[in-house]
Amino acid sequence: MTTGVIFEGMMAKLAAHTGTCPEATMFKKLDTDNIADMLQSYGFNRNGTERLYNGMTGRYMDAEIFIAPIMYQTLQKYTIDTVYANSISPTDAMTRQPLHGRKLGGSLRLGSMETSCLSVSSINFLNEKLSDHSDGIEDYICTNCGSRRVIANDSAVTFKCNNCGDLANIVKFPTSHSSRLFMNELQSMSVGTRYHARRPVFEVIENHK
Ligand SMILES: [Zn+2]
Repeated sequence: MTTGVIFEGMMAKLAAHTGTCPEATMFKKLDTDNIADMLQSYGFNRNGTERLYNGMTGRYMDAEIFIAPIMYQTLQKYTIDTVYANSISPTDAMTRQPLHGRKLGGSLRLGSMETSCLSVSSINFLNEKLSDHSDGIEDYICTNCGSRRVIANDSAVTFKCNNCGDLANIVKFPTSHSSRLFMNELQSMSVGTRYHARRPVFEVIENHK
């Protein structure tokens, strides 16, 4: 949509009346005076303007209006067809993570690239998104034997390890359902897994001046 459209329109008008197929690429120099002369020879104004009449009243419009046939392409892609936002979305039956995409009624996905960006600065936000708003769960393990063969009932305050009995030392720790699923899949392939729980250790870096 530049001045090229005006030239294209003038040329198309001329081509429509002469029945020719002129070259309109940018590789060929366009002689506008020549087009204007030829338009004039066909009874048009030199600049391609015409007098238009009001279809309702029949009065002419007191203005010179440029009118010409041109090719026009539109992209049939609209915001209303793609925009979506939601607070709650359905979850995947296997991983219990929120579904992605408008078609599934899902939400925007925080992919690996976004995770990489956020891991630089906003760990709290990252934890919220990947755990609280996703498939974050709390699981129980026995630190004595490192297994998940634990029966835990928080409300009844009943904890039991099927391996250790009285020696059991059961702890609750945050994890994700997809992580537990991975462990279950390993177990289904007869691969034994053991958890080794330890308290988080923070290193204090002193600033020596
Ligand atoms: Zn145990």
